[in-house]
Amino acid sequence: MTDPSPLPRGTLYIVSAPSGAGKTSLVAALLEQLEHVALSVSHTTRRPRPGEVEGQHYHFVSAERFLDMIEAGELLEHAKVFDNFYGTSKAAVASQLESGTDVILEIDWQGARQVRAAIPDCQSIFILPPSRAELERRLRGRGQDDEAVIQRRLRDAESDSSHFREYDYTVVNTDFNEAVRDLESIFRANRLRSTEQAIRNRGMIASLLAGGAASA
Ligand code: GDP
Ligand code: ADP
Ligand code: 5GP
Repeated sequence: MTDPSPLPRGTLYIVSAPSGAGKTSLVAALLEQLEHVALSVSHTTRRPRPGEVEGQHYHFVSAERFLDMIEAGELLEHAKVFDNFYGTSKAAVASQLESGTDVILEIDWQGARQVRAAIPDCQSIFILPPSRAELERRLRGRGQDDEAVIQRRLRDAESDSSHFREYDYTVVNTDFNEAVRDLESIFRANRLRSTEQAIRNRGMIASLLAGGAASA
């Protein structure tokens, strides 16, 4: 007979932040600490920054191709952010979750709303910078965007940040290593939920609860 208990499925995590708050570097550090978790590679119509690799940082596509993907229902969510389109492939996320891997979406708050509606048991995390001045320092320090782009992102930071209460967790990225530990704690705590543990340890739990000579 086949085992009727469900197989482990990954959890979907959303990570959002105003541009420059440290989302990309925090998630990269988390991926080095934690197993069974993968980053979803978004599609975007933005041009690659120096050093960005097709298929690794983003799938860089034309606006025409992006609109075709929307039309064909291939995107789990999509949004226009800073005049460019960004979106998450439905199929790529689904196959990773089915294989038991947790998946992280680094997306904006508009996309987060769409994902919560489609997949209510996702977990969402918002990253805040410690101050406006520090956000500006980090955006400039990254040294990858021109002045107009930096100004645009700083202007949008306040309205982006105003959505933090829509998220399950908020991490303030003051000290980098502490923020990575905070992120890791969220993932570890979710993996310890009884519903998750019951699936992951179903064999052990079945034998623990099976009764037998030692039980009273
Ligand atoms: P960065 O945040 O400064 O690194 O800039 P990016 O160009 O990487 O991201 C631009 C915006 O698009 C951010 O607000 C992201 O959260 C958002 N974003 C990135 N990928 C996705 C995605 O797959 N879906 C959605 N909805 N938003 C995304
Ligand atoms: P985002 O993906 O949110 O736009 P990044 O991860 O690109 O942000 O970080 C923006 C810049 O800030 C990067 O140069 C990064 O190294 C730096 N940074 C991130 N977190 C911290 C921190 N806690 N302290 C100082 N600098 C940081
Ligand atoms: P950047 O242009 O700096 O790479 O990203 C700018 C913003 O776009 C970030 O806030 C990032 O989270 C968001 N973003 C990146 N990919 C996606 C995506 O697939 N969907 C949505 N909604 N936002 C995205």
